[in-house]
Amino acid sequence: MALASVCALSGRMLGGCSSLAGPVGSGQDAPGYYPPELTGLRGSAPGSFETAHAVRDGRSWNEARDLGEQYDLVVVGAGISGLAAAHFFRAKAGPDSRILVLDNHDDFGGHARRNEFHQDGQLHLLNGGTLMIDSPRPYSAVADGLLRALGVDVEALIRSTQHPQLYESMGLHPGVFFDRETFGSDQLITGRAGTSWVHWLDQAPLSQTARAQILQIEEGRVVDPMPGLSSAEKKLKLSAISFRDFLRDYIKVEPAVLAFYQARTHDEWGVGIDAVSALDCWGFGIKGFQGMNLEPGEISRMGFTAAGYASTGGSYQLSFPDGNATIARLLVRSLIPGACAGGSVEDLMTARFDYGRLDQYSSPVRLRLNSTAVRARHLGAPSTASEVEVTYVRDARAYRVGAAHCVLACYNMMIPYLCPELPPTQKDALHSLVKTPLVYTSVALRSGRALQALGISEVYAPGCYHSNIFLSPPVTIGAYRSPTSADQPTLIRMLRTPCQPGLTEQQQNRAGRAELLATSFETFERNIRDQLRRTLGPGGLDPATDITAITVNRWPHGYAPEYNPLIDPELPPEQRPHVVGRTRFGRIAIANSDSGGGAYTDVAIDQSHRAVADLLDLTAA
Ligand SMILES: Cc1cc2nc3c(=O)[nH]c(=O)nc-3n(C[C@H](O)[C@H](O)[C@H](O)COP(=O)(O)OP(=O)(O)OC[C@H]3O[C@@H](n4cnc5c(N)ncnc54)[C@H](O)[C@@H]3O)c2cc1C
Repeated sequence: MALASVCALSGRMLGGCSSLAGPVGSGQDAPGYYPPELTGLRGSAPGSFETAHAVRDGRSWNEARDLGEQYDLVVVGAGISGLAAAHFFRAKAGPDSRILVLDNHDDFGGHARRNEFHQDGQLHLLNGGTLMIDSPRPYSAVADGLLRALGVDVEALIRSTQHPQLYESMGLHPGVFFDRETFGSDQLITGRAGTSWVHWLDQAPLSQTARAQILQIEEGRVVDPMPGLSSAEKKLKLSAISFRDFLRDYIKVEPAVLAFYQARTHDEWGVGIDAVSALDCWGFGIKGFQGMNLEPGEISRMGFTAAGYASTGGSYQLSFPDGNATIARLLVRSLIPGACAGGSVEDLMTARFDYGRLDQYSSPVRLRLNSTAVRARHLGAPSTASEVEVTYVRDARAYRVGAAHCVLACYNMMIPYLCPELPPTQKDALHSLVKTPLVYTSVALRSGRALQALGISEVYAPGCYHSNIFLSPPVTIGAYRSPTSADQPTLIRMLRTPCQPGLTEQQQNRAGRAELLATSFETFERNIRDQLRRTLGPGGLDPATDITAITVNRWPHGYAPEYNPLIDPELPPEQRPHVVGRTRFGRIAIANSDSGGGAYTDVAIDQSHRAVADLLDLTAA
């Protein structure tokens, strides 16, 4: 069904949908400019990336207009790293520091984006990207300190705002959807009170052998396939093979079992089990290794995610209703207090930003959206220059501003185009950082009755267009209340990773990015409606009347790349590409989670702190 039908269904939604005729444009100070309410194709929406791609393809803008604006710091990228860089710089250099933050998108937050829906007069929130506070290692003193400075006491909020048992108490459990294209027939199996879906595998369209093999894996009864090897030897071996190869060649599972597990790693890595090492899957806690007696702890041939979880068990975990967009919004409110009323994390949930106040002359910190940086160059030799000139393009026109310092908190692979003067080894390192594409789709439903009827809170659908469906996390914070009854309007979140098994992880990421950019909203919508009809239709869902809005958050440049032992050479930490790539260049420092080699909010914060220290150490020298 075409988008127009979505718009026709919902009252307040019409406001959001009507803006879908084209990109929001550059008028962030136009009345009614409020991107979180927009539906349709969001994330890296049309209008946000074309200029950057033109730069990649060799376009330059020599005729930029000099705005005569002079800043202490210009930050490229208004994601959490760029916003945190502005915060740390101001904290060090003083409250009167003049800072400009540029971002190519029509909203701030980078991946940490907020999706707002209004149904039955109530605000409903979902994350458009960055889901939650959760990292492979405990938050550092820097990252935890920033959260505290913003008024986020994570431990206290975990106690007072999260309701992890709610869905179970409503009789809702995780389920699995077997699709006919992959498994022969459409079948949803779910857990029941006190039991997991594995106990209902007899209803799955699988052979007896395949069911027995999945049960063995899930219940930890796999016999050690590498007897006679020490734990260290097994770990080394597991680090050199994919989880798919481990299941096929060591556990000797049937092809249908491989198909069942293929998408098990999509959520965490954005690629399937063919592209993630078996050892990383073990480190992350995926089942199949219980009989092998592997000793706890990381080895050097492990990626950032798995090594962290294997060594520490991970950080604290906290969900805000709009994901970590809350952190981005807290940062912006603290940097530009006039743009949003209130002072606590609780009152921020339902607060509305006045985008017209984000870029005002009277404010020491300014945030300029729809503005793609195309050049950052020293006026003079990088080692002695006292100024960096930053050129950006907005509405097809180029502008120049000056700054004493510059933090590039943008996608690191773009930096060689912004600064062609960088040393070749650094440019090569930056170019090699290929991010993982993925899509978070938010769907507003008239009610949660179909999920209630089927008894599901989330669905793993390994063969489907979206491999996972989740109910929004139940959170009560300030005046915000997640739905607590199936009769209320309900939001679901769906995950799609456009991977292409058979290629290496980097090749899959490039191919997936191209696929995402070539996929129209109509194609996404058709697939979403079809998948929800097949999955939730037996519970009574009619997509034509029950879906009230769809927001496809498309992230062609999604997760920051991390070391993958299957394809990357094992290098000493200081020679890894993200470390070489982040070297300070004169008055230009480099942040973003790419610089930390891990797709996590705390990494983005830590890297912004390091980038600001790089610059201010320079000033002090
Ligand atoms: C779908 C998704 C889910 C995630 N979930 C989690 C999670 O649950 N927990 C977690 O900790 N992490 C998660 N992450 C990782 C997330 O990327 C980090 O947490 C963090 O938000 C990254 O922040 P950043 O500022 O480094 O980069 P980004 O958020 O990517 O921000 C960089 C900004 O710079 C802009 N930019 C790029 N080039 C230019 C240019 N030339 N000019 C102007 N602007 C430019 C970009 O468009 C972007 O807006 C998730 C990532 C994705 C994609």
